[in-house]
Amino acid sequence: MRQGLRRLGVAVLDALLPPSCLTCDDPVQAQGTLCAACWGRLHLLTPPFCRRCGVPFLHAGQGDAAGLCPSCHAHPPAYDAARAALRYDEGAKRLLLPFKHADRTELAAPLAARMARAGAELLASADLIAPVPLHRWRLAARRYNQAALLARRLGTIAGKPWIPDLLRRTRPTPALEHRSATDRAALLAGAIAVAPRARDRLVGRRVLLVDDVMTSGATAEACARILLAAGAVGVDVLAAARVPDPRLESGRSA
Ligand SMILES: [Zn+2]
Ligand SMILES: [Zn+2]
Repeated sequence: MRQGLRRLGVAVLDALLPPSCLTCDDPVQAQGTLCAACWGRLHLLTPPFCRRCGVPFLHAGQGDAAGLCPSCHAHPPAYDAARAALRYDEGAKRLLLPFKHADRTELAAPLAARMARAGAELLASADLIAPVPLHRWRLAARRYNQAALLARRLGTIAGKPWIPDLLRRTRPTPALEHRSATDRAALLAGAIAVAPRARDRLVGRRVLLVDDVMTSGATAEACARILLAAGAVGVDVLAAARVPDPRLESGRSA
């Protein structure tokens, strides 16, 4: 019944407003999709990539014998595996910047669908799903946590519980880009905590941490450490897009 009404609603909307691409307004077949040109600008993140953190490789030889990137080889992360649907490039920015900053919350559906494919194994082994938290000041300015919208969709797709406020920011952190790994870890230490009333639901569980864009992995690492310290048995990370490591990209032809 609900499904039928929804379909009817979509049909009515289609008749009133011809469906247009979610990012460029060109006409498309159905609401909530991208046109072929905009899909063409996105790059799905496919192997080879680091088995642990998911950072894209130019060729498989960039990994060690275990398939790890130099940074995971030197300092294994606290989480077990991180995966992302898209390479974070100009095409992905056209989707992710409006999603993050311009109230384009309808972009959560196509992004989550691709994340569910890229992270199918992680989603299958998760007991619960939780977003990387936003500080409440930022939440107030933006009105929604984009990672929470993705986590909710992924929970629906996989039929698993999601806890929007499992983690919280206890104080705001400055932008982490262009800072050293040591600085990032220091800035994040103590800035994220498990919500006290969510603690019981966490113990003995495997958590899938969800974010929109994974950059250095420092935030995912800080969240994973906190979840493990609070009793989670394992943490994986699933992002909509992954920023490539410039150190692994030299010689790449765009
Ligand atoms: Zn388009
Ligand atoms: Zn790695």
